[in-house]
Amino acid sequence: MRALVGTTNPGKLREILAILGKVSGIDWVTPSEVPIPEVAETGATLQENAILKAQAIARATGLAALGEDSGLEVEALGGAPGVRSARYAGEPPDYEANNRKLLEALVGISDRRARFRTAAALALPDGRVWTAEGTLEGTIAPAPRGTGGFGYDPLFIPRGETRTLAELSPEEKNRLSHRRKALEGLRPRLLALAQGADRSRDA
Ligand code: IMP
Repeated sequence: MRALVGTTNPGKLREILAILGKVSGIDWVTPSEVPIPEVAETGATLQENAILKAQAIARATGLAALGEDSGLEVEALGGAPGVRSARYAGEPPDYEANNRKLLEALVGISDRRARFRTAAALALPDGRVWTAEGTLEGTIAPAPRGTGGFGYDPLFIPRGETRTLAELSPEEKNRLSHRRKALEGLRPRLLALAQGADRSRDA
């Protein structure tokens, strides 16, 4: 069965393919092979946005589609930037500007607790959709460190680690990440769909 990874964000795409690349019976297709519509993130929650993206892409392409929306929630900022993580420092989205703004917002604040959250949605062209979520607890570092990953990774130290996500190898990040946990929640559904698609081909 062919299924579309519904994101054009290179950091997310790389991680999703590394995590779900080998689900038996699924041939992953990317937006460079099958163009996807631009979907406005108008939902109030990460889950609503993930569903909006996955359903719009599945409808437009006729393929099963995976959508995801992620954000960073900082305790001392009441959960900000949250759903606004990509555009925290304004338009156009800029990782470095976002990181600078976050550090400025936390000047003098000792509570550095934060969590990454990912909502993932898997949709079929007929409108059916399944969702799963994953979180990663940690703290915000005093200054950016590391060159791996993307987005807020240079500022985020996972609980139990001394390194930021940007200092971990891609394999280490993918073992513990919010994205990994959300996508693992969809793996049984992907396997079931792939088996069902197989059976209907044989019938
Ligand atoms: P969206 O899911 O496309 O709305 O974007 C969420 C934003 O959160 C991204 O632009 C990044 O700034 C940030 N983000 C999402 N996932 C991660 C991650 O795994 N590491 C670091 N930053 C992330």
